[in-house]
Amino acid sequence: MSLISIKDMSFSYGKIDALRSVSLSFHKGDLVGIIGANGSGKSTLIKCLCGLLDVHNGHVALDGRNLSSIPKRELATLMGYVPQIQERTTPSTVFDTVLMGRIPHLTWSPTKNDLEIVARAMDTMEISEYSLRDIHELSGGQRQRVFIARAMAQEPKVLCLDEPTGNLDIKHQLGLMRAVKWITREKGVLALMTVHDLNIASQYCDSLVLLKDGLVYKQGKPEVVLSKNNIKKAFDINVAIHKHGELMHIVPVEDRDMELLES
Ligand code: ADP
Ligand code: MG
Repeated sequence: MSLISIKDMSFSYGKIDALRSVSLSFHKGDLVGIIGANGSGKSTLIKCLCGLLDVHNGHVALDGRNLSSIPKRELATLMGYVPQIQERTTPSTVFDTVLMGRIPHLTWSPTKNDLEIVARAMDTMEISEYSLRDIHELSGGQRQRVFIARAMAQEPKVLCLDEPTGNLDIKHQLGLMRAVKWITREKGVLALMTVHDLNIASQYCDSLVLLKDGLVYKQGKPEVVLSKNNIKKAFDINVAIHKHGELMHIVPVEDRDMELLES
């Protein structure tokens, strides 16, 4: 049975239709990349799944239960969410911020187990050395790793990450992808993440959902979804795709250079 099942879900902000008739299902232990041009509905899809936006049209089930019937506190133990931009944050140390991920699980004060989980999450995201620094004193990428560690410390069944690699340098992008992949494999977590880098998406994701104008344009294995034609339709750019065994490299190509490739 799928862990998340979405049937005919639509979402509008007033007159703006952000998602239209979306039907998808996601399984435990999968790393799913959500891709698409700016404004195609990626963040809205993630927010609907995390219960941050109420779905009025269609049906979303988590583990067979209607999402809207799950109390928010319980939902916080099941779903971890890292938003696209962390702007308004209250001053807090790195350690306290990650520990906040344990709050939905606490009955009174943190136990030894909670502290171990926090330490592990900080280690995974390579932020232990900043433990006592205030999060405002960190760079954007370092701070982003703190919020990802907080979501990991929550130990959710579903981890939703909205452009988690956005602020990260290339090494930490790969580190994050490896960490998320590890969580899906070792802990059976379902990870849903929006990504812009199609090469990273193809390298690490088990499957991709390509959104276009609020519709699911394509879904499936990265090598199927990431065809020249699909990329042209969804992003309005030409690309060359180089395959090296399992690896694929997608390179944007200017119109004027298309002939060079074909010759
Ligand atoms: P993506 O994350 O793929 O860039 P979004 O889900 O943020 O796209 O946005 C989808 C559509 O909904 C866009 O047309 C965007 O302008 C619109 N939208 C997003 N958030 C809001 C909002 N809070 N109010 C009104 N319109 C919004
Ligand atoms: Mg977005």
